[in-house]
Amino acid sequence: MLFETLFLLLPVAALSGWIMGRRQLTKKDPRFSDIPLDYLKGLNFLLDEQPDKAIDLFIQMLEVNNDTVETHLALGSLFRRRGEVDRAIRIHQNLIARPTLLPAQRAHALFELGQDYMKAGLFDRAETLFGELVESSPHSEQALAYLLDIYQQEKDWTNAIKIAQRIAVKTGKSFNDIISHFYCEQAETAYKQGEPARAMKLCKKALSINRKSVRASLLEAQIEHESGNENAAIRALKRIEQQDADYLPEILGPLLHCYESLGKPEEMLVYLRDILARHDAISIMLNLSGLLQYYQDDETAEAFIEEFLHHRPSLRGMDRLIDINIKHAKEPVQEKLRILKSVTSQLLEDKPVYSCHICGFSGKTLHWQCPGCKRWDTVKPIQGVEGE
Ligand SMILES: [Zn+2]
Repeated sequence: MLFETLFLLLPVAALSGWIMGRRQLTKKDPRFSDIPLDYLKGLNFLLDEQPDKAIDLFIQMLEVNNDTVETHLALGSLFRRRGEVDRAIRIHQNLIARPTLLPAQRAHALFELGQDYMKAGLFDRAETLFGELVESSPHSEQALAYLLDIYQQEKDWTNAIKIAQRIAVKTGKSFNDIISHFYCEQAETAYKQGEPARAMKLCKKALSINRKSVRASLLEAQIEHESGNENAAIRALKRIEQQDADYLPEILGPLLHCYESLGKPEEMLVYLRDILARHDAISIMLNLSGLLQYYQDDETAEAFIEEFLHHRPSLRGMDRLIDINIKHAKEPVQEKLRILKSVTSQLLEDKPVYSCHICGFSGKTLHWQCPGCKRWDTVKPIQGVEGE
């Protein structure tokens, strides 16, 4: 519908431009006699259902002067929003080429062109334009936001940190949560490149500006564990309960590895009992029941799960309970339990483990930046009957 409306408006806009132009023009101006012909040609293209040619012609006709700049800008942004980026770029480049443009109009056209380049994936060109606009223009703040977006997409974390700091100063808002992720990104890269000391330094930097950075704690623990510093790794992991308890499911695997490396797996049992008193997460219960099965016996684990499920129903808990019972059941009960088990397994098979509380994106991998809405720290382990 929008497109049809545009077609209806184009001749009107062009005609009004022509009338305005006509008032200003003398009869000597050669453009004077061209316009009505082009206008008719454009209409003809429309009637022949060649909208591309019609639009191009109308754009050519729509003379750029101080009265029509706004129309050009509106058309350009309309085309960009419709995904017709090439056409938007042409309109904006055409505008910028005019020497008579006022400085504010020029800045606006450059800002629009930068957005066209972004949409077309031409990040280098967009970066140059927004870089210019940041220095002195009414679009400085928005240009900074676009630059931040570009550097994140290009994974240029050094520049992303600089720009985020500039936005923080300009707006008076804290960007420390996001900047700490940029340091974590650098830390992960350093660690992958075999530089654990530099990675650790960057982790500390992330934590110094955002003491609640779960990601920095997890990475720090991984580096310490792989360097054989189990106690330091355990301290980093235990810190996460205070940072954000929603991420507790993430620490259970690494923590068990640390205690096993120390030869003290029973301390894991003590810790799990301790945190379960404060957070009734299913994954803590499942880990604890697994340890009970291993270090004590199935009956103890079974009784523990049953009691837990009374106040905190969970599909994964039920699945585990069936597992334990199948082992000890005799036919025909065992067969019935197998059927039940196949049902819970199917139900759990395609269940996402993490979801974004802003856009609803879900999956089986923990993303620090949501792939759906690109926000940081919004993807978390799913809680509830079907969660964790
Ligand atoms: Zn999201």
